[in-house]
Amino acid sequence: MRAGVRQLIAGNWKMNHGGTSGLELAEKCVAIARRAPAVDIVIAPPFTVLAAVAHECSAELGEPGPGANAVAIAGQNLHPGDSGAFTGEISGQMLRDAGCTWVIVGHSERRQLFGETDAQVAEKTRAALKAELAPIVCVGETLAERESGKTHEVVKRQVDAVLPALLSHGKTAVAIAYEPVWAIGTGKNAGPDEAEEIHAAIRDWLAVKSPELAAQIRILYGGSVKPSNAAELLAAPNVDGALIGGASLDAASFGEIARISAELASPRTTRPS
Ligand code: PEP
Repeated sequence: MRAGVRQLIAGNWKMNHGGTSGLELAEKCVAIARRAPAVDIVIAPPFTVLAAVAHECSAELGEPGPGANAVAIAGQNLHPGDSGAFTGEISGQMLRDAGCTWVIVGHSERRQLFGETDAQVAEKTRAALKAELAPIVCVGETLAERESGKTHEVVKRQVDAVLPALLSHGKTAVAIAYEPVWAIGTGKNAGPDEAEEIHAAIRDWLAVKSPELAAQIRILYGGSVKPSNAAELLAAPNVDGALIGGASLDAASFGEIARISAELASPRTTRPS
């Protein structure tokens, strides 16, 4: 948590809640956002419900007023091209048209299961920014890489690949999610000191090229974040929020993590819901 920086709590629904259950969960996320005005809430539903969820969230929110807080919608992936013969793919502009303002790029499942390379992740990051979508670029080492002492080398390589794109972000928000692959969906999370070490290193690498980018970018932690470990992770000095998979599918857990983040932001004024 950094003074003066709003934490970003993002839920990655992956291949879940692609129908009416997605709309029900989105409605609950609007209530969560209302109770945590000090925190930015982003949800990434599957493509099939993006437009409906975006509509639901803006309709539910009504007129912005005191304490109103929007739920922003993210795509989980995008194709780097604008349009064309790419069966099954979705462009950045299509995500915008569906109501997205964010997009997750280079998630470890895309890298590992679908063979996305650093170069492709960089291309997608560039395409996201061209469409004025704020990218959440995921980086992180595998267990084998960690055990062979390569964590810094791997994460730096992944960050370096997207750095030229991130430097051109203009007014669009940007985020990096440090997600150690061994912690995703496994129940094992990095400890706050382990997370802080990598988050601080990422910020230092960015600062060499652009102190402004290093200050502006939000570096999220991802990997088995849940209500029981959120407070210690979110309190780490260079942790600006969380990217949450499993726990974002359950409104009570996601809401509790958002509440914890809001409480860290204003410990004296935010009460448990
Ligand atoms: C993720 O997939 O981005 C993630 C962090 O998942 P989980 O919270 O389930 O580990």
